[in-house]
Amino acid sequence: MTPKMHLYVLASGSKGNAAVVEGPQGSVLIDCGISRRELMRRADACGCDLDRVTHVLVTHEHSDHTRGLPVLSNHFDGELLATAGTAGGAKPLASLPFTLVTHSDTLGLAGMVVTTFPTSHDVADPFGLRFSVLDADGQIEDSIGWCTDTGYLTAEALGQLRGVRILGLESNHDVQMLAHGPYPAWL
Ligand SMILES: [Zn+2]
Repeated sequence: MTPKMHLYVLASGSKGNAAVVEGPQGSVLIDCGISRRELMRRADACGCDLDRVTHVLVTHEHSDHTRGLPVLSNHFDGELLATAGTAGGAKPLASLPFTLVTHSDTLGLAGMVVTTFPTSHDVADPFGLRFSVLDADGQIEDSIGWCTDTGYLTAEALGQLRGVRILGLESNHDVQMLAHGPYPAWL
């Protein structure tokens, strides 16, 4: 694959999540769980141009993925995309001007083909993402997979994530790992 996209992970973990996928015709911000100010500071520090962002994709309603959205949306002319479950899943999101998508959608954003797929998480309607750049013949030139806060990978997720050049994966609860790990049973 030829690198045609760039991934910036600006925040990850329970204190906040945000990432930018830079495509050929713009960039997409995935989640905004940190303040706009902090987002701008971190983007600046690693040479990520937030002025290129044309769309914000919100994977689910948890505050560590959405905390910065209300302020960000006051300063953002592009589209906010989420499922109806996510948009209606938390009070601070209720007044935001979302464009609704589903957890099994294919979208054309910033020169990329963006596919959503369902993840396994205890929220209303979460999704993971695959980003692809195609050549003139429709062949995949580059691809990035993104899947966070998932208990396990659904069959659909595995299919979408197969063969990507960069895979961003985060999982925070694994029954087998907990059972065999160093933590005592009461914890
Ligand atoms: Zn979550």
